[in-house]
Amino acid sequence: MAEVTVVGAGLAGLVAAINCARSGHKVRVLERFDHIGGDPYIRPAVDVTPMDPKRLGDFIGVRLEPPYVTPTEEFAIYVYGRRYLVPGSRMHLHSVERGSRSTSLDMYLYERAREVGVEFEMGVEMNSQKDFAELPPNTIVATGLEVEPFLALRRPYLEVYGFIGKTRYEGPPRIMGFFDYYTSYYNYCANANGVAFALAFDGRPVTESQRDEWDRQLREWEGMGFETWLPHEGVVATGKITSPCLFAGNKILAGTLAGMQDPVFLFGVQSSLVSGKIAALAVEDRERAWRLFHSFTSAYKYSWLYKRFFDAQPHFLRKRGLRLGFGAYQKYPSLLQPAIDIALKSLPGYGKY
Ligand SMILES: Cc1cc2nc3c(=O)[nH]c(=O)nc-3n(C[C@H](O)[C@H](O)[C@H](O)COP(=O)(O)OP(=O)(O)OC[C@H]3O[C@@H](n4cnc5c(N)ncnc54)[C@H](O)[C@@H]3O)c2cc1C
Repeated sequence: MAEVTVVGAGLAGLVAAINCARSGHKVRVLERFDHIGGDPYIRPAVDVTPMDPKRLGDFIGVRLEPPYVTPTEEFAIYVYGRRYLVPGSRMHLHSVERGSRSTSLDMYLYERAREVGVEFEMGVEMNSQKDFAELPPNTIVATGLEVEPFLALRRPYLEVYGFIGKTRYEGPPRIMGFFDYYTSYYNYCANANGVAFALAFDGRPVTESQRDEWDRQLREWEGMGFETWLPHEGVVATGKITSPCLFAGNKILAGTLAGMQDPVFLFGVQSSLVSGKIAALAVEDRERAWRLFHSFTSAYKYSWLYKRFFDAQPHFLRKRGLRLGFGAYQKYPSLLQPAIDIALKSLPGYGKY
């Protein structure tokens, strides 16, 4: 039996901790906040991600079910003002509540971790190279999208900017995505469990007038009103074509810090869950874990290149291409479904359980 330290009590860290404890290790988790659920500035939030909850749940050894993970019933996408509707099930979309409420996936995983004897030290922040050097070998680092560990462990990242909106909202789980002139990424708004969450973001600072334009569209087209918008600056893990990386020196990386994030839509939920399991395996068998990690991220480089190509296109070409793609998908769903399924398989961590 080994003593395993996990830094970060988010999705990847908790799955890693649960699996290490089940293998008989003594596990302690260090978490920078004094609570589970991450930064209250951002949360509660609703993350939406393509997922196969049954197979993923079997792989990580945790049942993934409502209200923590719920099928997204409707996926509406606005391409420069034109609305397309796709049943969420076709894209295998699932809505995941994040944060400290009892209906969040974070709290659900925390409860499972407590059941198997994982110990938690709250309010402990690991940021500098010195902090990490002092941690024992085989420590699992799963600090998510916080920039300091990326810097300390020399992992590549990209900065993102934008605004966050949160409000109460009842209704079946939905997501609305917006491609438009106000962002070179996409904005999204999703709801689940009585909460709605909206994120306007881009690889460069988003102005208030860009945000206000989206706010107007949300109100007029979807009846979604957000009283306040909070400025948001953060990082994503898709800095380089070589971002996915399981080891940093004698440390094991997990979650987005390990580059487990899709470079196109920036989905990070299901790949973080997968990578928590792989990190736990790495404590016992580095070689096997590395092979699994490699297989789960083998298509990353193609998605990364596609994203660079997409980013280089001017708005008028994006508008044409996206309208053509979504229009055809709406009209001939079964014809294009194989292409969607192939695209889903290129997501880090997807579908190779
Ligand atoms: C605003 C926003 C919206 C998003 N929307 C989506 C979405 O719709 N779909 C999707 O798939 N993904 C989405 N993502 C990405 C997704 O949330 C992440 O990829 C996922 O949470 C990563 O899981 P993780 O385990 O790596 O990190 P997290 O779940 O973020 O957990 C990291 C944990 O480590 C702790 N921590 C951080 N730094 C330290 C430190 N220095 N010392 C100790 N503890 C530390 C944190 O407090 C936290 O508890 C979104 C991210 C953001 C920020």
